[in-house]
Amino acid sequence: MNMLTKENIKKKVVADDFESPDFYDIDALLTEEQLMIRDSVRQFVKKEISPIIEDCCEQAVFPEHIVKAFGELGAFGPSIPETYGGGGLDEISYGLIMQEIERGDSGMRSTVSVQSSLVMYPIYKFGSEEQRKKYLPKLASGDMLGCFGLTEPDFGSNPSGMLTKITDAGDHFILNGSKMWISNSPKADVAVVWAKNEAGRIKGVIVERGMEGFTTPEIHGKWSLRASITGELSFDNVKIPKENILPGKDGLGAPLMCLDSARYGIAWGAVGAAMSCYETARKYASERIQFGKPIAGFQLIQKKLTEMLTEITKAQLINWRLGKLKNEGKATTAQISMAKRNNVEIALQIAREARQILGGMGITQEYPIMRHMMNLESVITYEGTHDIHLLIMGHDITGIPAFQ
Ligand SMILES: Cc1cc2nc3c(=O)[nH]c(=O)nc-3n(C[C@H](O)[C@H](O)[C@H](O)COP(=O)(O)OP(=O)(O)OC[C@H]3O[C@@H](n4cnc5c(N)ncnc54)[C@H](O)[C@@H]3O)c2cc1C
Repeated sequence: MNMLTKENIKKKVVADDFESPDFYDIDALLTEEQLMIRDSVRQFVKKEISPIIEDCCEQAVFPEHIVKAFGELGAFGPSIPETYGGGGLDEISYGLIMQEIERGDSGMRSTVSVQSSLVMYPIYKFGSEEQRKKYLPKLASGDMLGCFGLTEPDFGSNPSGMLTKITDAGDHFILNGSKMWISNSPKADVAVVWAKNEAGRIKGVIVERGMEGFTTPEIHGKWSLRASITGELSFDNVKIPKENILPGKDGLGAPLMCLDSARYGIAWGAVGAAMSCYETARKYASERIQFGKPIAGFQLIQKKLTEMLTEITKAQLINWRLGKLKNEGKATTAQISMAKRNNVEIALQIAREARQILGGMGITQEYPIMRHMMNLESVITYEGTHDIHLLIMGHDITGIPAFQ
């Protein structure tokens, strides 16, 4: 992947006049502050993401300059307390930020989700006071980029089988193993990595770029999330200072808590992508003339638009209610699974229907639909596949785990 800078990425003049569909007046459920945050992120996306995103995706370029810009916007760690550089905002505000960024591009939202929910969250939640002070302000400002290493080449849906090992060597630890499919990794300054100790207990470890034996090769050839950079993490006898272990929590529950936070953000983000596809199709249908009238006047097109808007409205309501529950500390893993599973699925269906409404034009980069569709193929797989979320819900409903 090339590393283009802000200067040499082609900025297109795009008329991004996006307004979100709000069929049930859900805006009335949002506070002044939440609306203000939503609108300022929407403006940011129109100005900073829409003009470059097609070019970045076509060339498979991660627009590196956006990391600092996200920091200035306050997109990193919105719900981390302000003392550590976070936004101190509520969970609905966090969700709205994810929705707006993914309306621009799922890959851009992935960068922000990973930094906020998978790097800052575990350091805040499970880190020592020294670790919080050392890393969180720099991650919040975008001076540091982070990544999260859980998945391994042979352990994806079943991370408990992980082979990455951390061994006590007296005054330090030794880390060996590898992680696969890690968002941000080739550019990350810091990685939150999950590894097993001698007793088989999963521990969180902060690994810094520059540590001897630590490399982050890039994964090439993705047809999805092309503006997001993905790679591996490789550890060959990496010497880890003892103070780099996350002391607050161990066991699989620790990374799963991080995933809950990230999946919550994805549930909101997917609605952003769905809204972008719906709005694009609605506008196109009202302007495209066939058989002497706008195609929006044909019943089959109206059926598609009606079903899209119905699903978007249901997903918006799920997100709002889930945000309320999360603000009260009551959202369960299974509730989050339902939202992630449902919202990504409907976003993907909406992308496919919207593309059909645009006919041949739907496959071009003149419109964002095909890009969203390809992105959503990753979103439906990462952070727990569509079927794994079904099994999480099935376990919750029946009390019987069907994973094995
Ligand atoms: C672009 C991208 C970015 C990513 N970023 C990160 C990251 O930053 N950090 C990170 O740690 N990981 C990351 N991932 C990894 C991602 O979370 C995994 O791909 C995902 O968890 C699935 O694992 P897998 O690909 O190994 O698939 P597998 O686990 O091999 O699953 C393959 C298929 O088998 C099904 N399956 C598996 N087990 C069962 C079962 N018990 N019952 C029924 N069906 C089952 C799955 O649903 C799936 O359809 C990323 C992935 C992608 C594609």
